[in-house]
Amino acid sequence: MTTQADCIFCRIINGELGCDKLFEDDAVLAFRDLHPQAPLHGLVIPKRHIATLNDFADDDSALLGRLMQVARQIAAEHRLEGYRIAMNVNSLGGQVVFHAHLHILGGRQMKGLG
Ligand code: AMP
Repeated sequence: MTTQADCIFCRIINGELGCDKLFEDDAVLAFRDLHPQAPLHGLVIPKRHIATLNDFADDDSALLGRLMQVARQIAAEHRLEGYRIAMNVNSLGGQVVFHAHLHILGGRQMKGLG
């Protein structure tokens, strides 16, 4: 698995840093956000280090789809009737951690996108 030593999410994947795990398989890890913005706030990440959505390869569509499937599965496991999936891309898009991740937010009423 390709990881980067200076990437905080790679360090979680490697087990150097702990996390509150929601899901794991060979390609994907999901865990609770450290600063939750909703009763359920999870992050779904590829285990391979990919900095942003723009850095997925053209033939990574199965991996991208898998991230969505995992998010949907987490929502079902937490019996979320409605929820939000978001991915911030680059600094202007609000991305702070440069290891691509889906946010899954649920358990409260979602309002407009800010
Ligand atoms: P983004 O702004 O889309 O890059 O989101 C990064 C998210 O990662 C933020 O919501 C942070 O609260 C979260 N975060 C940063 N470090 C950790 C960590 N060690 N464990 C869990 N979540 C983290």
